[in-house]
Amino acid sequence: MTEPKDYNDEEWKKILTQGQYYILREKGTEPAFTGKYWNHKEAGIYHCAGCKTPLFQSETKFASGCGWPSFFDIKSDLVDLKKDTSHGMIRTEVLCSKCGGHLGHVFNDGPKQTGLRYCINSGALLFSPSK
Ligand code: FE
Repeated sequence: MTEPKDYNDEEWKKILTQGQYYILREKGTEPAFTGKYWNHKEAGIYHCAGCKTPLFQSETKFASGCGWPSFFDIKSDLVDLKKDTSHGMIRTEVLCSKCGGHLGHVFNDGPKQTGLRYCINSGALLFSPSK
């Protein structure tokens, strides 16, 4: 069986919605305050919309005010971090380590727990409530 990391563009287009494809595979960004989860407060787990890996726990979500779902922590083996110099900025891109999908960026202005703010596109995530 082909692993998500090896899917080609045609396969991803079959699996993902247009919005998900734009973010995960083309490194797009949804406009602030438009996504499904920026103000979402339920307890549960946020999965990668590409490969369904459980990524972020609701306990690490916080109200950053930036218009995207923001988390202060994630298990380090679940994501890959990459220097991103696009759009005239130096940022750290956050990618799903299982499927390589673009999730968002991480910044150093997070809350005291870790000082990090994982600024993630709603469109890259799928939420499931805790039982
Ligand atoms: Fe993934």
